Amino acid sequence: MQAWSLEHKVQVTQTRILEWYLKYDGKVFISFSGGKDSTVLLDLARRVFPDIPAVFVDTGLEYPELREFVRAKENVTWLRPKYPFFQIIDKYGYPVISKEVSNVIDGARKGQPYRFARLNGELLDKNGNKSMFNCENYRYLLDAPFKISDRCCYHMKKAPIYKYERISERRAIIGTMACESKLRTQSWLKAGCNGFESSRPISQPLAFWLEQDILRYLQLTGIPYAPIYGDIVPAAGKQNKNDSPVLTTTGVSRSGCMFCLYGVHLEPEPNRFQRMQLSHPKQYQYCIYGLGCGKVMDYIGVPYKNNSLEA
Ligand code: SF4
Repeated sequence: MQAWSLEHKVQVTQTRILEWYLKYDGKVFISFSGGKDSTVLLDLARRVFPDIPAVFVDTGLEYPELREFVRAKENVTWLRPKYPFFQIIDKYGYPVISKEVSNVIDGARKGQPYRFARLNGELLDKNGNKSMFNCENYRYLLDAPFKISDRCCYHMKKAPIYKYERISERRAIIGTMACESKLRTQSWLKAGCNGFESSRPISQPLAFWLEQDILRYLQLTGIPYAPIYGDIVPAAGKQNKNDSPVLTTTGVSRSGCMFCLYGVHLEPEPNRFQRMQLSHPKQYQYCIYGLGCGKVMDYIGVPYKNNSLEA
């Protein structure tokens, strides 16, 4: 499915949305973050059902430009988390490296043997080989002088949505894609695009899309997207298998929470924090020094000062 043409993906995605909508008599909503994936999702859904409502969780961690973009959209309900980010990191810990790694560190610190085995590289798969779920590269985080956990997303984003679902009795359509992580691939393979039978029924009709599909869709349709991404342009010297250019954005590559540490260790310099120092200096100061994200990046060896400013 991931190898299908964009046109085919559009058709199948809209069919999945239609099936979901009909199953719940229209009592559905789009979970809208203002990011490029959910912008494509909202556009595809509203081409079929123009009145479909959207829901945005205002975590207080979004780029100001993204909030403005969401504010300009019609029929979007704004939700707020119960606790602010600084309380979440104080109580549970920082989101570091990835959800999976933060979860493993938190669990191992609580003495869970399965998570210790993963950090020690001792987990075996059913054939007796080393499991792909081992993550011994991150064992050093056990000794970090700060709390680490994956609870942030739950409290900041999921809990407000769950509450909205209970009160409104609407079923969510979300813009997650399997290509984003092993966990998302597993969830898609288990439940399919429309998880009617899941304990929390959820539709993820973009699950088989790739980031390149999202960028091509935005480019072909010309629909507005959050300005924080900049322009969509061909990536220098890169081509797809069919000789079409690989697309990239001139601004941020991901528009999620400004202060999130997930994935920053994989970014080439200038990374998102180094860029933020120039583009959003006030938020940068608060994040690095006020929230203490600087000390976390010192520990994991990720630079956050922009050399051009230091010179
Ligand atoms: S993306 Fe990062 S900062 Fe945002 S809610 Fe999830 S863990 Fe927290």
